[in-house]
Amino acid sequence: MLSFDSFSDNKEVIQSLKAALNHRFPQTVLLTGSEGSGKWSLAKTLAAGLLCTSNTNKPCGICESCQKLKHNSHPDLEYIDFDDGEISVAVARDLRKKIYILPNDSDRRVILIRHAHKLNISAQNALLKVLEEPPKYAFFILTSEQAGGILETIRSRCSKYNLAPKNDDFDLSLIDNVSGFIKALSSADEYKMLLNAMSFEKLSKSELKNALGLIGAALHDCIFIANNLSGNVLPEIGQKELASKVSYERLIKLYDFIETLRLRVQGNAAPSIVCASLCAEAYQICFM
Ligand SMILES: [Zn+2]
Repeated sequence: MLSFDSFSDNKEVIQSLKAALNHRFPQTVLLTGSEGSGKWSLAKTLAAGLLCTSNTNKPCGICESCQKLKHNSHPDLEYIDFDDGEISVAVARDLRKKIYILPNDSDRRVILIRHAHKLNISAQNALLKVLEEPPKYAFFILTSEQAGGILETIRSRCSKYNLAPKNDDFDLSLIDNVSGFIKALSSADEYKMLLNAMSFEKLSKSELKNALGLIGAALHDCIFIANNLSGNVLPEIGQKELASKVSYERLIKLYDFIETLRLRVQGNAAPSIVCASLCAEAYQICFM
């Protein structure tokens, strides 16, 4: 059964979305976070909550709507969930048609889009037209582990929530290197950043992936701090300072970029190239 009780991490994000279910839920939500952070499960739980007819504790798991969801037969829920390849404009156009059909059972229609960055540019533009003025009954929940691949025009229309990676994913042995990098970034000192990034070059592939994961986690903390939320996933290693120096939008861009780099390491990119691009791009994203 879909329930918020199954989410032990990301308490603040869960709390605020849960509260929104009982008041005014945003019509377009973007859930970001690395692979395995629970975005898709959360999206499905939110959809169940939006369609549940109980007055308390949505999704209740008991009402007719919750039962239909359990059997995958709710007519007012639409999934776009492709595992591989890009999502074509035909899919987005089809969605555009469907969205104007009034809800069947409830007074809402919910659309879930997984890996939203896989919508190609034409598909994103087609979707944008709906997101600009969605029918009152329509709710979109997009999830992505690379929100940088989503057009800014779409992102700016979404209420954004970033999920932290699971705590036990972290190996803190490289925290000092990462702290050095975060502090160098705060000081906007490109030379210091380069020296720090070079210390990552000697790492093995799995260590480098871990270091980038830690940088991503530190940035997640910065994004939280910039939103006046608590819930750091790492100890304080300079996140506060960085959050005061770099704008929220730029932090999000940098977070996406780090996630892209992590995927490149996975795809066997040379550490020297990854480290050089870490330094140059991070500086550019934050300060230029
Ligand atoms: Zn229910």
